[in-house]
Amino acid sequence: MTIQQDCLALDVQDPLRQLHDLFNIPAGTIYLDGNSLGVMPAAAPARVADVVTREWGTDLIQSWNKNGWFAMPQKVGDKIARLIGAGPGEVVATDSTSVNLFKVLSAAMNIAAADAPQRKRIVSERSNFPTDLYIAEALCRQHGMELALVEPEEIAASLSAEVAILMLTHVNYRTGAMHDMAAVTAAAHAEGILAVWDLAHSAGAVPVDLKQARADFAVGCGYKYLNGGPGAPAFVWVNPLHANRFWQPLAGWWGHATPFEFTPDYKPALGITRYQCGTQPMISLAALECGVDTVLAAEALGGMAALRAKSLALTDLFIALVEERCAGHGLGLATPRGHSQRGSQVCLTRDEGAYAIVQALIARGVIGDYRAGDGGRHKDILRFGFTPLYIGFADVWNAVEQLKQVLETAEWKRPEFNRKHAVT
Ligand SMILES: *Cc1c(COP(=O)(O)O)cnc(C)c1O
Repeated sequence: MTIQQDCLALDVQDPLRQLHDLFNIPAGTIYLDGNSLGVMPAAAPARVADVVTREWGTDLIQSWNKNGWFAMPQKVGDKIARLIGAGPGEVVATDSTSVNLFKVLSAAMNIAAADAPQRKRIVSERSNFPTDLYIAEALCRQHGMELALVEPEEIAASLSAEVAILMLTHVNYRTGAMHDMAAVTAAAHAEGILAVWDLAHSAGAVPVDLKQARADFAVGCGYKYLNGGPGAPAFVWVNPLHANRFWQPLAGWWGHATPFEFTPDYKPALGITRYQCGTQPMISLAALECGVDTVLAAEALGGMAALRAKSLALTDLFIALVEERCAGHGLGLATPRGHSQRGSQVCLTRDEGAYAIVQALIARGVIGDYRAGDGGRHKDILRFGFTPLYIGFADVWNAVEQLKQVLETAEWKRPEFNRKHAVT
């Protein structure tokens, strides 16, 4: 049995405890949704205000040089690279995850068309985040290819000589299940298949080593565990082996080798810079840099390994407390228990009332979210993300206590908790 005092003691011993002060979390809120929109870094308002009032307001167009605006995508990209096992100059922070996926998938299709034109299939997971599947579907239509969707246990058997690209999200948004990136990439390469990884739920959440895994392409999200703010620029990485082989299709001037020569023809920049398209959002990039800095602040305290250790301790505690204290209320666990098989979130299932229970919890200051089931393999889920930068062990205790009360009082049955909002 775990008691509340144990959780308080774990917080006292937590070597990452001080990182909590990098954020302004509203009083009375236990924020378990950093996997969807990270908390605002305390440094962000002043930094954004400075970009607006001094850099934009006073320095105006000189800021492109004077305040380093032009190099911001590379500067922030280099910082993200440290979190995902990429080298300096290999990542740019730019555009959205969906747009970046369009770019890398197109480039991967071009490589496949050149090296193995008989391969006409992209394989992905049926429960991948839908925008990834939509982008792949659209590109397949354009390129005369097909998208094959499989369950996770079917991936290995699906890697055949017809397949050009395996496109996976490292940590599943719905279940929190995590792939072994190195093993899956090696299995794909053994069959001559390129591996494209989406790190939306990985960057800043779990250790990632793209180079060691020999991945081919990767994209990821700025506003989840990187705390970059709503709609923050995403990021893109291309293995240097491929970076100069093909154009990406959105060949805008920011990807040109010499944009300020204003030549009528396109000459792609070398390396990852060609994965930029047009003028980038400086205010958003400044906010994203504040967010990435919050994760990099852990480097002096053990880095991603220390964050991962705490994340696993938090999620283990949450699972144990839910099972001890909320037993008999029909909750199931959709997230794998094995440490190597999951990211930094825990998803609970319930046949009835999952949405309303989440709403009742939100009213009590415990912010998680809900994802609808598919009527088959996937049940409705209550989803809880644990960001070790700002979540403590006592928070986990308190969140489970609120969940227990919501279930015991059946408070979730109230009509106000059963009205669906546009964003769940
Ligand atoms: C969050 C998420 C996205 C978001 O894409 P946007 O272009 O930022 O809307 C894409 N893919 C995955 C796997 C995600 O988890």
